Amino acid sequence: MTLDHTDPEAFALLARERQFRADSFDLVPSDNHPSPSVLEAERMYPLFYSENDGRNFYYPGCGIVKSVEELAKARALALFPGSEHVNVKPTDGTRGNEAVYRALIKRDDKILSLGLADGGHLSHGLKWNYSGQDYKIVSYEVTASGQLDYDQIHHLAMTERPKMIIAGGSSCPFQFDFEKFGQIAKECGALLHADISHFVGLVVTGHHPSPFPHADSMMTTIQKTLRGQKGAITFCRTDRARDLDRAVFPGVMAHATGAQLLAKAVAFGEALKPEFRTYIQGVVDNIQALAAELLAGGFSLVSGGTKTHLLILDLRGRPLTGKDAEAKLEAAGILANKQLVPKDPNPPTVASGVRFGSPCATARGLKPDDMRQIGRWVKRLLLDGESPETVRPEVVALARRHPIPGL
Ligand SMILES: *Cc1c(COP(=O)(O)O)cnc(C)c1O
Repeated sequence: MTLDHTDPEAFALLARERQFRADSFDLVPSDNHPSPSVLEAERMYPLFYSENDGRNFYYPGCGIVKSVEELAKARALALFPGSEHVNVKPTDGTRGNEAVYRALIKRDDKILSLGLADGGHLSHGLKWNYSGQDYKIVSYEVTASGQLDYDQIHHLAMTERPKMIIAGGSSCPFQFDFEKFGQIAKECGALLHADISHFVGLVVTGHHPSPFPHADSMMTTIQKTLRGQKGAITFCRTDRARDLDRAVFPGVMAHATGAQLLAKAVAFGEALKPEFRTYIQGVVDNIQALAAELLAGGFSLVSGGTKTHLLILDLRGRPLTGKDAEAKLEAAGILANKQLVPKDPNPPTVASGVRFGSPCATARGLKPDDMRQIGRWVKRLLLDGESPETVRPEVVALARRHPIPGL
């Protein structure tokens, strides 16, 4: 019996979601479409408990899953030359960061991180997140033109003397100079933690500087530009390996499933292949094409453009908020999320920017010409005031020529 027979109500929601996704373009930069092999690995692996600290297993029958975890670890280390120790168990990035903080610093210690409105992540110190509640947070910001200011970061580090500096964020069209961050951290006596969750695919393929050997710890999600399933991995130096492993299990979580570990191993295996370089080159070419079309259409972009896989439209001074723009684009089948811009006068739920990324579109086989077409739709919708109804059929037509892998 298949789900359509056993549970028609649940199946109907599944079918609606699949149709909606197939007929839209997901340009949310944190999203991606994993390959069919990754999906298969996660779907086919039997479910059972495999809690372990790397040596001791708390359940029987875990001989094979131990090898799965070893495979994932070996491939994760191979992806990042210069890395020393990896823990592949974290089930998400927010947890992965928690494990790193718990392993390497103490409660109430000071962390210097990128502010949320400037592109940081909620697990870097939002006051409603554990990170903002358990640690003292000092934020560095981007300049009015949307760039990192290393003099400001240096000054803050020397006056605030944080125990940890975090380099990384979620909404960054600019790159992180980990070497500079490393020098600043050394000078002020802080640990450097790199969170490359968003641009990890660019790091692996040499389109963005690597955190190693400068960072003392690193966390990345798997589901974003790395094209895996939901999950994260954390790295540290060999001398802190035991602390990190304990902080992950039993510190912040019980077990990762064999399915999650196998899907990670498969995703890392794919990221090590030449095809992944081609994929990321496509991600970069596609976002550049979209950026060029939007700039030519009269939009302003935060940072003036992009050096990563994402861009942010700056709608300040226009009659449209980020929230309005997101709704209008969605009605036409273009998914891009509202986003704070530096010094945003609006709250996060309204925002003055919209964030676009190219990972999903590239996974569906879109090329720079298609991205320019998307840019023209965005202009018609947001600047020319055209109704989503007239754009929607054109979006559906292109989307149906590019099925989502594995769907
Ligand atoms: C996405 C993201 C995370 C958190 O990942 P989740 O899996 O959503 O918990 C952490 N840090 C950064 C910089 C991210 O972009």
